[in-house]
Amino acid sequence: MRPLRPRRRGPPGCPECGGMLLYDSDTKTYTCTGCGRMFTREELSEARRKIFEEIREAMSAEYEDEKEKMYKEYLKWYLSSKKE
Ligand SMILES: [Zn+2]
Repeated sequence: MRPLRPRRRGPPGCPECGGMLLYDSDTKTYTCTGCGRMFTREELSEARRKIFEEIREAMSAEYEDEKEKMYKEYLKWYLSSKKE
């Protein structure tokens, strides 16, 4: 059986532009082939943590919206069914 999601090989993309990162073992830094920026391992994990948090916040905000919408819909339904 093949896995549904193939694992990405090598270092994940640049947090700035999503380009490919090349690791330089001499300077222990990653250089982006897209925008040319250099990142240390720490900078990369920090940048990734930030992105992850932003996504999580955006998703939970959306979820709150959904919940509120559902609650209002329910309230509307509840009130209208009471009238009849
Ligand atoms: Zn880049």
